[in-house]
Amino acid sequence: MIAKGTKLYSIIHYKCPRCHNGDLFLSAAYSKNFMKMPDRCSHCGLSYQPEPSFYTGAMYVSYALQVALFTTVYVALRVLFNPSMVAYIITTIVAAVLLLPVTLRLSRTIYINFFYRYRPEFDHADKIEQP
Ligand SMILES: [Zn+2]
Repeated sequence: MIAKGTKLYSIIHYKCPRCHNGDLFLSAAYSKNFMKMPDRCSHCGLSYQPEPSFYTGAMYVSYALQVALFTTVYVALRVLFNPSMVAYIITTIVAAVLLLPVTLRLSRTIYINFFYRYRPEFDHADKIEQP
């Protein structure tokens, strides 16, 4: 189990990087509005859009996640089945498309965790009002 207070907890559970209580996304990963985020954390009031186009930098994180996915699929297929190159390409594309909602949400969550750290005083506070 991943302990609350670590960045990995915030990333795996899609929680606010500062309080680890508020949800970063409004709906589930495979729903219609899977990328829709609230403006602020429902628990501590942290703005999820600290500046315009904040999540543009998340595309670099997404690129790294896609490379990790391609590598994992390639190694798994190579070790288990040793398929042809066409089968590898098709499997990789299918895996990338199927995991796209997860990859995009993870990239945003990892990116916002670069800029904020866990602060226990916001975790234990009840609904801190912020402008
Ligand atoms: Zn919060």
